[in-house]
Amino acid sequence: MSLNVLVVGGAGYIGSHMVKNLCGRGVHVTTFDNLCSGHRDAVLGGAFIEGDLADRAALERVFAARKYDAVMHFASFIEVGESVRLPAKYYRNNVSNTLNLLECMQAAGVEQFIFSSTAAIFGTPQRVPIDETHPTNPINPYGRSKLMVEQMLADLARAHGLRSVCLRYFNAAGADPDGQLGERHNPETHLIPLVLQAASGRRPFMSVFGTDYDTPDGTCIRDYVHVADLCEAHWLALQSLAQGEGSQAYNLGNGDGFSVFEVIDTVRKVTGREFTVKHETRRAGDPSRLVADSSAARQKLGWVPKYPSLQTIVEHAWAFEQRR
Ligand code: UDP
Repeated sequence: MSLNVLVVGGAGYIGSHMVKNLCGRGVHVTTFDNLCSGHRDAVLGGAFIEGDLADRAALERVFAARKYDAVMHFASFIEVGESVRLPAKYYRNNVSNTLNLLECMQAAGVEQFIFSSTAAIFGTPQRVPIDETHPTNPINPYGRSKLMVEQMLADLARAHGLRSVCLRYFNAAGADPDGQLGERHNPETHLIPLVLQAASGRRPFMSVFGTDYDTPDGTCIRDYVHVADLCEAHWLALQSLAQGEGSQAYNLGNGDGFSVFEVIDTVRKVTGREFTVKHETRRAGDPSRLVADSSAARQKLGWVPKYPSLQTIVEHAWAFEQRR
């Protein structure tokens, strides 16, 4: 019997790759998305319901219409800077609306939940690489909103037996290896798509935010992880919950850090294009170095990233950028 999975935020960047992944495995997928930032044409299979997590009645109808085995939740606001300016927007959507979803799941007896969390829950790292024992101390409302949901999930597990896997993405990047899907944020704030847009001529230049960090070349270091590998981790997490495992949380990255200048060099190499790079001041809230220790995901879920190389990640993202 095929699995029934509700993918909330399935029209967004990572969610749309997940919908494709699940449909390819014969899973019965329903996407629930309000299309505030997602794209209807990115949902390549399964059923689609346009709806908002703030709308309790709509959610109740979703759970009444079908018995879901599990819910994957990708729908959230993700811009750190915006979260500092508009914190209530982040707490409303990322926390309060997620609580609506969790309560409706509970009422419908759905007990398996996979949550898109983030490295931002750790704040300024005390050490790198960051494993799951690293203290959580988010430094912006975005990170706090995600940590609050993690904490709610722990309480709901104790009280009601809701089992969840929190997947803390480091820097999600890359695009569907088949070239059908990619990153389409508007406005785009992420490094790799912005550098590629400068390379393709869609942007006149790209800006480097800070060249005075305590890193070998002065720019921030991040752990870029392929979106297809993140989806694979979700699939493994689903298997683990289906086998009856309890709640878990994993840090997902490749364990390799690349500076902003190294990313720019990789883009130059992959695209063969020249473009203007401007050096700007630091962006508020950026820690100098974020690198994951993903040993736990490897050992407990059996997660083995298929596309760990930054060059491959950039190649896939470039293929998508060129089709735009
Ligand atoms: N960055 C940059 N220029 C840009 C966008 C990002 O220099 O136009 C830097 C940013 O300051 C950070 C890194 O690139 O050090 C990755 O930023 P991104 O927004 O992609 O992800 P984050 O690490 O904030 O989740």
